[in-house]
Amino acid sequence: MAFTFANVLGKSALVDGDKFFDLASISKGMVSADPMESLAEPQALHRLSAGLENFSASGIIDEVELEAPVPRPANSFGIGLNYQTHVDEAEMATPDVPMVFAKLPSCIAGPKSEVLMRSDECDYEGELVVVIGPGGKDIPEETAWEHVLGLSVGQDFSDRGAQFMSNPAQFTLGKSMDSFGPIGPALVSTDSFKTPDNLELRTWVNGELRQHDRTSNLIFGIPKLVSFLSRFVTLCSGDLIFTGTPEGVGFRNGVFLKDGDMVRTSIKGIGTLENRCVRIPD
Ligand code: ZN
Repeated sequence: MAFTFANVLGKSALVDGDKFFDLASISKGMVSADPMESLAEPQALHRLSAGLENFSASGIIDEVELEAPVPRPANSFGIGLNYQTHVDEAEMATPDVPMVFAKLPSCIAGPKSEVLMRSDECDYEGELVVVIGPGGKDIPEETAWEHVLGLSVGQDFSDRGAQFMSNPAQFTLGKSMDSFGPIGPALVSTDSFKTPDNLELRTWVNGELRQHDRTSNLIFGIPKLVSFLSRFVTLCSGDLIFTGTPEGVGFRNGVFLKDGDMVRTSIKGIGTLENRCVRIPD
């Protein structure tokens, strides 16, 4: 049974329609209130989700503040240049293997968190985020989906000045500044989707549609990414992969985010992030 998981004020919850159910309560304490611990028990999430009609809801999801569904991943990866349209706008060469950087766990933030910008060269990148379930090492592509717990929406906010401050460029720091990795609003189990490898992704800035593509256009698809990363790193439950962004980012036109801008990022079947940009002193 498919499940939708959310982090309500630091506590694990299952979502059904507009209602949420506190996981520790409905499981009578069998499943942890801590999101990282409960995500390590996918069988319990599937089973409890199948019986939600037996419980009274803990509240309405739109009336509570959601935090990142995976607040403290052990590993969090970003993939660069993974849509051909974005490779073209960046005027870079198409990679032969996945181009990987760290989206450090400390930058992970909630679905409506503010983006704290320390420069006038910050940019948005709307992305599908993969959440690893059962981890592993040397995972073959053929069985990689079995290691995916679910999917979420992410923003790979990027300080382009920091990203290109050196030659060759270094991606990790400029993409891992505090608050630069909002995810959510929920984690939706992979079996919720008819075609988990073909989802519609859109990003708006102040209501203007800037990015619109489908995840079927990833150069390196999810099985390839999971398999490739697991050759180097033992993947753990809750690890994140920001899978890359399609065309339409700001820096191709020299247009960057300003104080007060509202960035909305949406994937059909998962939900929408809403992140207000705040310029802070450097
Ligand atoms: Zn990115």
